[in-house]
Formats: sequence, structure tokens, C-alpha cells
Amino acid sequence: MRILVTGGSGMVGHYLQKLSVKYPQHEWIFISSDHDLTQFDAVERCFIQYHPDYVIHLAANVGGLYKHLNEKVRMFRSNILMNIHVVDACHRFGVQKAIFCLSTCIFPEHPPSFPMTEDMIMMGPPHPSNDNYAYSKRMLYQHCMNYNQQYGRQYICLAPVNLFGKYDNFNLQDSHVIPGIIHKIYLAKYNKTPLILPGSGQAIRQFLYAGDYAKIIARTLFEYQDVKMMICTSPVEISINQLVNKLKNATDGSIEIQYDTTQSDGIIKKTASNTYFTTVFPDFVYSDFDTKIKSVTRWFYDSLPNGLVRI
Ligand code: NAP
Repeated sequence: MRILVTGGSGMVGHYLQKLSVKYPQHEWIFISSDHDLTQFDAVERCFIQYHPDYVIHLAANVGGLYKHLNEKVRMFRSNILMNIHVVDACHRFGVQKAIFCLSTCIFPEHPPSFPMTEDMIMMGPPHPSNDNYAYSKRMLYQHCMNYNQQYGRQYICLAPVNLFGKYDNFNLQDSHVIPGIIHKIYLAKYNKTPLILPGSGQAIRQFLYAGDYAKIIARTLFEYQDVKMMICTSPVEISINQLVNKLKNATDGSIEIQYDTTQSDGIIKKTASNTYFTTVFPDFVYSDFDTKIKSVTRWFYDSLPNGLVRI
């Protein structure tokens, strides 16, 4: 089978490239923004060129708080165009099964209860800090469900929690929590200044290693027979304070940490349920969180002089 992976140059795309060698019976094609998926003609050309049997759609305009607040039009428009074009092209070119990425950050700011389950995705507005990204992903979900119901397609949506790994975006203004803190620890270490973090450090978050998420994507493509959306998380749910200590200890642990409690913690806890996932893949083995945190930190330090990291 020929598998087309969009967003192949991104963090998850890198892990999927590495994993693809374990599936040599398939032909894997990884594309980046060289094929601008916001453009209908570019998507059309891409599908004419590759004629995929399966599609894994990772491409997205992803960003941190700064980008979400300052580029609202672009976050909505680019994501919704990419998603609509790719889902429509899948159907037009006869792709029966495809994988699409949502995120648990697109779930309601105030869900009816915790942990959040798959059925709660539309039960209230998303958090205003990323609402445009969230609405574009929710429309992706709706679009996939429509094709599944009306045309019997198997367009499956996965909703991972915070992902982390090598090849992440370490830009201080735009990054997610783990790469952002790794970068700040690096600066504090080399400038010999305290690390000042916003909030109290008490907020609790779930994390999933991007290499594990790549494995989940592959197993979903090859083994999952349903169309129900699936939340993907790991057993790791820790406070920012605990996370910072782990990241600090991944280097020599010598920096001083201060919390700026005048700034908000955001939502204190937004636990998503792994129950459905564990019924589908009860044998899934997660990577050890502490080991991966160390290897990603090491990778950041080693990559810096080579300009590999996105900062
Ligand atoms: P990423 O590292 O930011 O990579 C984004 C990818 O999308 C890159 O390959 C980029 O290509 C491509 N892209 C961006 N704009 C494009 C365009 N106009 N046309 C074609 N391709 C375009 O993303 P990631 O972290 O791997 O995330 C993969 C998926 O998981 C995304 O759908 C994301 O929403 C979802 N997700 C991520 C997280 C997380 O914590 N990272 C959490 C939940 C869900 P270039 O390299 O050429 O720019």
C-alpha cells in the first residue's frame, strides 16, 4: 500500500519516518509545506502525483499562546483550508482509510466532568486562548464523521494530549510547555540567572512522547477497525513543578527556580481519559517518561550549535 503522510517534516512526522522502516511492505511518502495544503490546486497535484491508498494527515499550523493570540485569522484559515482540502481529496481520490489529528486542547474549557471523554468534544466552547485552532480541528472532526456516515469512509480522528520529542519547536514565544521549559533552563544555566516561570507550578498536565504517538498512529491505521475518535494519552499526569524538577535534573540541576504567582496557571487540571484507548490497545507499552525527557533535553543541547532546533 502507498501511504501519504502530510506534515512529514514536523515533530511527529520525524518519528513516523523512523517508524516506517518497520513497515517495509508499504511505500511511505512524506511531504512538507513544499506542497502548500492551504491551496486547492497543490493538494490536487499532490494526490494526482502520489495516488495514495492511505493518508496520515499531520500537517497543521501549530503554535503556542503568543501565536494563538496574535495570528487568529491565520490560525483559523490555514488549518481549516488544509483540513478541508485533504479530507475532500481523500474522498475524491478513493482513499478509504485515513488518520487525522485533533488535540485534547480543543475540548471544552468547562467540560461536564473530568476526566474528559471522547463524547465531550463539542460540549461547550474551547478555551479562548486557542479557540481558532480548536474550532478548525472540531470542523475537521465533523467533516470526517460526515464522510464516514454518508459514504462509509473510515476517516479516523486521534486526539493526543501534549506531545513532546526531538524536532519540536523550541521557540520561546511559540513553543509548547516541555520544549519551552528546556529552552528556558538552558538560558538560565548559561546566563547564570534564575529561571522565572509564570504561575504557581501547581497546574497538572498530561504528556505523551511523540515517538509513542507515531506508534499509535501506525497501529490505528493497520489494526483499528472502528471510526470512533480516540483520545491518546499516557499514564503521565504531573504538575508543572514536578515537570520542571525533572527537566532541571536532566541537566546538572544547578539552576534556581522562581514562580511568578502574579501570572495565571491557566486551567489547573484538564485530565483526558485513556479508557477507550486502553480497551482498543490493551497491550500498548509506553516509553519511560524520565528517560525520554532526558534524551530530548540531550538532543536540544547537542543540536543547538548545528542550528537543528527551531528557536
Ligand atoms: P509540527 O512539528 O508543528 O509540524 C507541522 C507540519 O505541518 C510540518 O511538517 C509543516 O511543514 C506542515 N505544514 C504547516 N503548514 C503547512 C502547509 N500550509 N501546507 C503543508 N504542510 C504544512 O506539528 P507536530 O507537533 O508534529 O503535530 C502533528 C499533528 O499533531 C498536528 O496536526 C497537530 O495539530 C497535532 N497535535 C500536536 C500536539 C503537540 O503537542 N505538538 C498536540 C496535539 C495534537 P514545514 O516543516 O515545511 O513547515
